Amino acid sequence: MNTENTPIQRLGFQNKNTFFIKREDLIPFSFGGNKARKAELFFKEIDARQYNCVVTYGSSSSNHCRVVSNMCAQRGLPCYIISPEEASAPTFNSEMMALFGAKITVVPVDKVHDTIESFLENLRAEGKNPYFIPGGGHGNIGTQAYVICYNEIREWEKENGIHFDYIFHASGTGTTQAGLICGQLINRDQRKIVGISIARKNPRGRQVVVDSIYEYLASIALDVSAEQIESKTIFDDSYVGEGYGDITAKEVINNILTNYGIPLDSTYTGKAFKGMLDYLTKNKIENKNILFLHTGGTPLFFDFLTKERTTK
Ligand SMILES: *Cc1c(COP(=O)(O)O)cnc(C)c1O
Repeated sequence: MNTENTPIQRLGFQNKNTFFIKREDLIPFSFGGNKARKAELFFKEIDARQYNCVVTYGSSSSNHCRVVSNMCAQRGLPCYIISPEEASAPTFNSEMMALFGAKITVVPVDKVHDTIESFLENLRAEGKNPYFIPGGGHGNIGTQAYVICYNEIREWEKENGIHFDYIFHASGTGTTQAGLICGQLINRDQRKIVGISIARKNPRGRQVVVDSIYEYLASIALDVSAEQIESKTIFDDSYVGEGYGDITAKEVINNILTNYGIPLDSTYTGKAFKGMLDYLTKNKIENKNILFLHTGGTPLFFDFLTKERTTK
């Protein structure tokens, strides 16, 4: 798998700004998305150090768990997924996890932490060498994946003589945003990176991003002032709605699919795209180059479509 340089396309969008979209959804493995970009780095470590099974965490709709279980199946590695029963309704992602033979254990969300610990302990006691991937591909490896993505964006700007004034994207567990902001801090670029929260409220949501930035910068021994980090971290929680899976982005999803042939979903990218348009209007932002990072989640588009059809 090679994620290098996912395409950036211009959208001929009728609006006061010029819009571009970077197609992380086209990463050529398991329907792509930011979880595929992160997993590629996690599995470099797994392959290099010869771990022989993987433990991770996520809900039945998790793109992360789909990609990780696909990577495991490809290698013949057992994949153990601990999943919260509060979000266990079947989805296209959970269908695929089953197809890949992932061993899914469903527990109440407050038991997840202890269950993961006991799985790791038991596997080690059996003589296995398990690798734990935090939910959503959290941690410095996930952040690193989006520093790489940020550098691809810079390269594209250089080649095309275009500067993006804003980058918008769906922000969840935070390392996509943390990676982009670390990329910006490392390069001292002037622009705004706006994470549209898809579930978490502030102050926690934003703090998780800030913590990930500190953790990553410490790992590369780069000293950046707290003021810089705080001022660069824009985490907008105005569009959270009902949390994961809110359907209010419907019109935007229909519009972008019809006019550009690009699928968005109602949990992440549709919500973020809608939030972006609203943010630009609300803040009277005009005549800027805007990049939307399409973070993937295509199987969730089909969940959206199925739900739309059955609730009509
Ligand atoms: C996980 C996910 C996000 C959020 O990424 P984080 O790094 O967790 O903030 C955004 N979009 C899609 C499609 C995702 O699957």
